Amino acid sequence: MKIDEAREVRTTCPYCGVGCGVLAKVAANGEVTVRGDPDHPANFGRLCSKGSALAETIDLDGRLLYPEIHGHRTDWDEALDLVASTFSRTIAEHGPDAVAFYVSGQLLSEDYYVANKLMKGFIGSANIDTNSRLCMASSVAGHRRAFGSDTVPGGYEDLELADLIVLVGSNLAWCHPVLYQRIAGAREKRPEMKVVLIDPRRTMTADIADMHLAIAPDGDVALFTGLLAYLGQHNALDRTYVTAHTTGFGQALFAASALDLAGVAAATGLGEDELVSFYSLFAATAKTVTVYSQGVNQSSSGTDKVNAIINCHLATGRIGKPGAGPFSVTGQPNAMGGREVGGLANMLAAHMEIENPEHRDRVQRFWSAPTVAEKPGLKAVEMFQAVADGRIKALWIMATNPVDSMPDADVVEAAIKACPFVVVSDVLAKTDTIRHAHVRLPAAAWGEKDGTVTNSERRISRQRAFLPVPGEARADWWIIAEVAKRMGFGEAFSHPSPSEIFAEHAALSAFENDGARDFDIGAYGDIDAETYEELPPFQWPAPSQGTPLWPAGHLPLRGGDQSSSWPSLVVKVAERAPSVELPISPLEGEIAGRPEGGGTIGRQPVRFFANGGYYTPDRKARFISVRPTAQTRTSPDYPLILNTGRVRDHWHTMTRTGKSPRLSQHLAEPFAEIHPSDAQHFGIGDADIARVSTAHGEVLVRALVTARQRPGSVFVPMHWTDQFSARARVDALVAPITDAISGQPASKNVAARVERF
Ligand code: SF4
Repeated sequence: MKIDEAREVRTTCPYCGVGCGVLAKVAANGEVTVRGDPDHPANFGRLCSKGSALAETIDLDGRLLYPEIHGHRTDWDEALDLVASTFSRTIAEHGPDAVAFYVSGQLLSEDYYVANKLMKGFIGSANIDTNSRLCMASSVAGHRRAFGSDTVPGGYEDLELADLIVLVGSNLAWCHPVLYQRIAGAREKRPEMKVVLIDPRRTMTADIADMHLAIAPDGDVALFTGLLAYLGQHNALDRTYVTAHTTGFGQALFAASALDLAGVAAATGLGEDELVSFYSLFAATAKTVTVYSQGVNQSSSGTDKVNAIINCHLATGRIGKPGAGPFSVTGQPNAMGGREVGGLANMLAAHMEIENPEHRDRVQRFWSAPTVAEKPGLKAVEMFQAVADGRIKALWIMATNPVDSMPDADVVEAAIKACPFVVVSDVLAKTDTIRHAHVRLPAAAWGEKDGTVTNSERRISRQRAFLPVPGEARADWWIIAEVAKRMGFGEAFSHPSPSEIFAEHAALSAFENDGARDFDIGAYGDIDAETYEELPPFQWPAPSQGTPLWPAGHLPLRGGDQSSSWPSLVVKVAERAPSVELPISPLEGEIAGRPEGGGTIGRQPVRFFANGGYYTPDRKARFISVRPTAQTRTSPDYPLILNTGRVRDHWHTMTRTGKSPRLSQHLAEPFAEIHPSDAQHFGIGDADIARVSTAHGEVLVRALVTARQRPGSVFVPMHWTDQFSARARVDALVAPITDAISGQPASKNVAARVERF
């Protein structure tokens, strides 16, 4: 690749789900500089500490630069032939469900799309799951139950327009720092804006909170079920909205009414006065956004938590309106893109459903595929259990490090070690996972490859290359397609570049899509190489079939009729301009002219949920009746609750951020946060080395005694591996307990004990 030194390349940060735009430049001496993209609608020029240190993490130290078989350098042909022949033979001997792909929210959508197509349409199994299962699967399941689709009904701008932001299980200040900055900025302009933080820990996010509710672990279903009952009792419902746009309200309210305030207080560990303060504030504030993240998702009741939150927004009609809505923020840069291409074991591409025979038929015809998976595949935790018990005999891991990041990580490592055939494609030569691979395939890294990612507000942005690809590394999509060709599926995998893959992905989303499916980026128009190169960040759902990315003064509308439940659409005419509500009459027509305010409609088109229209058969959202279930896991041997999570300046298993001395200065070593009363009880002093153990394993980490921690709980960050600090792999301590609906592990509620080492 030829590098244009004079040009700043517009790309996207590879870390969290905020999806900030980045401008990267390579100087004549090879030095790379990055800055926030002032024109990107996610960050408007801001970057957090991780994003601004990106240039410090892109050297070639430790890179895997050549294919290897059994640790010896080989060439691509030999490596690819071995992968293809072993997968083909395994399928022939044991059936398609004897193989699996474990992929990653770090992959670009184009990589993800090709992997999903190969597994579901050509191998004929749905055994492809992703580390995003650990991140947001409960939100996906909750959205699908409530809306009939995995649609996120809100955007970042809602955070600035809200009068009340409720942050649930989300340390936004450290995990989504630019969103935190946007909220802090909005509060400076509108000091009357309120923030409530619901988190067992008093995290740094509490610094902007007017109220912090130190909820008991997994008390969220009770809290929001109690809120629904309170809203009903205090005449704070939007009955018009409920009647017009939802079903199941009566049952949900009846179920909620079984829990009185004292019951909620007992289940949440909160005082009744605290509950009433929060409930009354929520009831009184029409413009409320409830933001939730891993504290909600990573739970054995994660899906119910999501629906308990959504229920409260549906009951008050606070959804799809400017400054109002439930809003799941994803952890990874492309967790959302993975959802779009069907990277989860229980989904098909383009948000179609594996259990739906029409969807299967449509996808199979579109791909001209010999088959299509007929049932959901194994979700992440199940997948590694199947590796352990020998059902999976060939495993391909792409861009992730499950030996450190999966629950019960020691058992996962033993399973991978014993698996007859393991392929790992990664950018690094040494990770705890790749050392067990029979075949190692060198992948191109951030800055070297092209594609797209989708952030938490469903904004698709380009990642663009600005560095040459080193050694013999290749883009993931190319590696997967080459294996597919060698398995005999050449014609369907002959994509010459990521732009063709994106165009196919967009065309599939539009294929026989009569509006019954939410994901339809094909509606933005045809994508050719030039359009793809220049593609600006854009959000979906598309407002209509045929709306181009750069509309010229009018917004053609998808068909409908006057009796439709969409009497108006809320349209943004500029990124930072207020939304305007436009009457649509008749629906089959055009909004003539461009409303005052400038900007482009296409880059922030329409708030689809403004006045109803969900993706259920009757177009109504569903209330889900949820009840809190007992989550007590402690015992005399393990009297504390272990909570795991992120720190501000590191990412996942530190394979990238561990390269930056600057990022390691913030928190230089792993630690266990413990409340002073527990520290005293267990004889632990501040800065002592503590042994944290569960029924699954133990770590040795520095004790950090702090009243920010809830009594009865201990927090250990997830990042450090044995490579950085001996015996600090906290996921080896996490039980493989999952949410029964979403399959997401309960990484924040594990019975543990702490001792001085
Ligand atoms: Fe990157 Fe997230 Fe920081 Fe933005 S907030 S710069 S996407 S890590």
